[in-house]
Amino acid sequence: MIPVNEPAFTEREKELLVQCVETGWISSEGPFVRRFEEMFAEFVGVKHGVAVSSGTAALEVGIAALELETGDEVIMPSFTIISCAMAIIRNGLRPVLVDSESKTWNMDLNQVADKITPRTKAIMPVHIYGHPVEMDPLLELAEERGLYVIEDAAEVHGAEYKGRKCGSMGHMAAFSFYANKIVTTGEGGMVVTDDSHLSGRLRSLRNLCFRPERRFEHQKLGYNFRMTNLQAAVGVAQMERIDELLKRKIWQGEEYRKRLKNIDGIKLQAVKDWARPVYWINGIVLHDDVPMDAFELASRLSERGVQTRPFFRPMHEQPIFQKMGLFNEEHYPVSEQLARRGLYLPSGMALTEEQIDTVCAHLIDCLKGK
Ligand SMILES: *Cc1c(COP(=O)(O)O)cnc(C)c1O
Repeated sequence: MIPVNEPAFTEREKELLVQCVETGWISSEGPFVRRFEEMFAEFVGVKHGVAVSSGTAALEVGIAALELETGDEVIMPSFTIISCAMAIIRNGLRPVLVDSESKTWNMDLNQVADKITPRTKAIMPVHIYGHPVEMDPLLELAEERGLYVIEDAAEVHGAEYKGRKCGSMGHMAAFSFYANKIVTTGEGGMVVTDDSHLSGRLRSLRNLCFRPERRFEHQKLGYNFRMTNLQAAVGVAQMERIDELLKRKIWQGEEYRKRLKNIDGIKLQAVKDWARPVYWINGIVLHDDVPMDAFELASRLSERGVQTRPFFRPMHEQPIFQKMGLFNEEHYPVSEQLARRGLYLPSGMALTEEQIDTVCAHLIDCLKGK
């Protein structure tokens, strides 16, 4: 089986992990946490990095740091992972959805302005599958209407919009270092920001809102979202060769594109001329005239030894949110189409050229009904 994700490590991860064990620094108090935060923030081009236990935690604590009022609204795409909506809801706020646009699969910016109400306080653009959201119009609108922008940059480490790194453009951004992400610490995440006021709140929130001056007296409710030194050690090892990781990821994406760009029946994620994407995953969407859906194609590929993953199930179609009375009767046709007709091919860091060849050959056969 060619796995949908296989990470790639070197001796350096091992070496730094051994250091943690030998020195006894395994908790979040260890020195790699700060070093990883500094390396990552510098890479993104922002002042502060606050490491946390996951990308989901980064979004939750990021929203919490804005200190909005119960019932305030945050605009986000329907086509994303549940972490985004969860972070909003768990902070007592209301997620307001927009559809995706059909080329890059990112949120449709033309739908954002219409969703702004007096209660709207923030926009959460999600850079989908390695391709940046077109940030200028979004930032302009946010500025004009006095809204925060919190980027979900979990899938775009190193991607650029007009030469600016994803994660450096909003007031804050959340990254994930889950095992299938471009930089991984197994589990982990980070909030990055230029705002030292926000970073101070974030540091406090991730650590139970302990106070430096009176440790066990609390003025606010926080979380234990701390990253361990063990995780950060793996992160430091990855950041030391980040250029190499990005080069490999982009090479994989381009190899897939060479083989698939002229194949009938599928479309790939568009690449805008202002974007430097990082091809976090290599997704395909089946044309309407292909007589099978993504689930059927996935099972055929699986029979041939190629593991795939379906695309996101849109937020407005989630049973839990329906049960909560959210998004009832709302429809976002592009997201729905992507969910039914999209899947992604093996895209892990360890993927080889030979495996890409095999995957593409099987995909082409399946599309021909062979
Ligand atoms: C992976 C991911 C997350 C969540 O990150 P975890 O570390 O798995 O909690 C959030 N948003 C997006 C867009 C993601 O791809």
